[in-house]
Amino acid sequence: MTPAAGRPEPPRFLGHEALRASLRRSLARGTLPATVLIHGMPGCGKQSLALWLARTRLCSGADKPCGRCNSCRRALSLEHPDIHWHFPLPRPKRTSGPAKLAAALEDARFEKLAEFRKSPLRAEGDTEVKGIYLAAVLTIRDHAHRRPAVGEEQVFIIGDAEYLVPQEASPEAANALLKLLEEPPDGSRFILTSGRPGSLLDTIRSRALPIHLPPLPVEEVAAFLREECGADPEAAIRAAKLSQGSIGAAIGYLEPDGDQSRQRTRALDLLRAATGGRRADAYTAAAAFPPAGGRGLLGLMGALQLWIRDLGAASLGRDDQVVNVDELPFLRDTARRLALTPDRIARAVGQVEEASMLARGNVNPQLFMGTLLLDLEEILEPA
Ligand SMILES: [Zn+2]
Repeated sequence: MTPAAGRPEPPRFLGHEALRASLRRSLARGTLPATVLIHGMPGCGKQSLALWLARTRLCSGADKPCGRCNSCRRALSLEHPDIHWHFPLPRPKRTSGPAKLAAALEDARFEKLAEFRKSPLRAEGDTEVKGIYLAAVLTIRDHAHRRPAVGEEQVFIIGDAEYLVPQEASPEAANALLKLLEEPPDGSRFILTSGRPGSLLDTIRSRALPIHLPPLPVEEVAAFLREECGADPEAAIRAAKLSQGSIGAAIGYLEPDGDQSRQRTRALDLLRAATGGRRADAYTAAAAFPPAGGRGLLGLMGALQLWIRDLGAASLGRDDQVVNVDELPFLRDTARRLALTPDRIARAVGQVEEASMLARGNVNPQLFMGTLLLDLEEILEPA
């Protein structure tokens, strides 16, 4: 998978053929607005599509993106001077003053880009508190007002744009970006991506053409895992089903100690605690969480929702819809024992969804988990 030096290998797989064909046509006709928002579930390939779009726009070949011209080659190795890829980063420590912070963020960004270059397939876990800070937006603004380095246009990709307003940043970052999107400088194009477009400011959302990226079909994810990660067919299909159409998540499920695999196990423990019929289990499970530092809670909530959905499928006898197939006997037993109904499953899923919104803020994981488990217990195991 590592491309030979100076000869980057185009990614063999991107999926979403029809969508890409229509974007290519809009670009060729010049009808694609200067600002677009690619949204879809985490890991479904939003940033890959954004990079592809940037590459297509800047390609100087005939069949865009040709993958062979100078522009394509620099873009593929993430070294194109007119493609500015920004994403949430942890706040650099021990920096004071806006200029120093901006410089430190740029250093961190280049470091991250170097990592992507080395292992483009590595799945990202949400283990750190990150943000797109005002300083980063001001860097973007400065660049956007300069002329492109080589071509006639430059492309700014702002990945996971909902991090523009994280709990510890001010809305200033979002407002500064808003100003830029209101009057985009000539020759600047913006591609935002978001897994939670509802968390973006309305004013930002309304200035971007939304492009929805649907989850990939299970077969396509499995094919990717086989071809690009060398997974055996059985493991590939299992991870693909669990991933819900997200390549990023599927890679995490492929490795037994991958982020997703670990979260799946932890979420199962939580479900067991909430359905075991012993209130003390819920307290014990919650007490295992630290009182501060809610890192990774969001991913855990996603995994828990998947388990509850599986419980619902098992309660309806729809084993074919269960994704955690290895635990089918437990799911069936639990569904039967608790006489679960679709209504209670829906309420439990909604409860976890609500908790996910909270988990984005600054929560005490121990209290958070204790409350959630007791709520779930009440829904799933009514006295
Ligand atoms: Zn090209």
